[in-house]
Amino acid sequence: MTCGVYIHVPFCRRKCDYCGFYSVAGMLDPDGRVPGAYLERLDKEIGERLPAAGVSSADTVYFGGGTPSLCSSADIARVLERVSGLVQLLPGAEVTLEMNPDDVSAPLLAGLRDAGVTRVVLGIQTLSARLSALIGRSSGPCTERQLEIFFSARGLDLCADLIGGIPTQRVEELHYDIDTVAGYRPKHISAYLLSIEKKTPLGARMTPDNAFEAEQAELFEVMMTGLAGHGYVQYEISNYALPGFESRHNMKYWRFDPYIGFGPGAHSFIGGERYVNAMGLDDYIHSEEAAIVRDERTARAAPVEYLMTGLRLMRGVSLLEMEERLAFQVPAAVMERIESAASAGLAAIGGSGNDVTVSLTRRGVLLADAVIYRIVEALL
Ligand code: SF4
Repeated sequence: MTCGVYIHVPFCRRKCDYCGFYSVAGMLDPDGRVPGAYLERLDKEIGERLPAAGVSSADTVYFGGGTPSLCSSADIARVLERVSGLVQLLPGAEVTLEMNPDDVSAPLLAGLRDAGVTRVVLGIQTLSARLSALIGRSSGPCTERQLEIFFSARGLDLCADLIGGIPTQRVEELHYDIDTVAGYRPKHISAYLLSIEKKTPLGARMTPDNAFEAEQAELFEVMMTGLAGHGYVQYEISNYALPGFESRHNMKYWRFDPYIGFGPGAHSFIGGERYVNAMGLDDYIHSEEAAIVRDERTARAAPVEYLMTGLRLMRGVSLLEMEERLAFQVPAAVMERIESAASAGLAAIGGSGNDVTVSLTRRGVLLADAVIYRIVEALL
């Protein structure tokens, strides 16, 4: 089986106030790097679980976090050697690493390329010092110097993450971020709306209301229009790429393809089953075995997830492919809701014969959560 490999690096220098990801601050080595004990434990988990999962080859590897750029290029090289010593890392494999602006340096970028990384994603989020402070971003805004060093790196697909829809963000501020970043021609831009999660410090001091949601909808449209104006193709609700540079690893999440994750909190999807490594960081480092928990799900969970993730892709979902892959007959109640969304101009029905495809229209994308929920609700 060919699979994507996800490596979780759950360390950060400090926690950002808006962050809902599993990552821990204050556990770095005295030199400010990811502790060797973590990397050794990760090496052990990869050695135990990767061959046992029936994986024979990998076509993507993704170092996510947390802050994977707190690893040295030698650390990353060792992990990749471990993976490729166990399974075939296919020629042309996409190997991605997320980078924090504070870690941008020409030697690190060159070292990562030499280690086998092919794609680096810079977490820019916002260039505004005011908005950076407002959401409690730990590293402050990305500087012009960091952008220049990052986008001067050779031999890597350079990509960027942006966040829009920050409270009080003005349209001009978002335009500035989009125009500045797109001006460097990243191969891929993820542009997410800020999510204010209750359990975070930001969520404790702000509660989204209807007015905020309306502002976010307007700013989301600014992102769509602005990035399209710079030649970026929106292939997923929050992801844009120059032609041919879609994230192959993330496509696995949206297309229901298999991946295996390592590290605390990492998820896997293998043989149609979902698993999570349910340990906290400290327990993980000091344990002999990873606590892999299978997600117990109802028979309808798979079609619900398939539609919820697949409809996020602009090309939509083939219902025939879904039925064949999941051995599941789409019920009439779902088709009725799809047809109703199409009548309202929120979804488009295409395909031919019994191969029906469903995708969201531009209007549907702006109301994606509600439209998708309305369709899958018939299966709940
Ligand atoms: S750097 Fe990223 S992962 Fe770490 S706290 Fe900030 S948003 Fe979360």
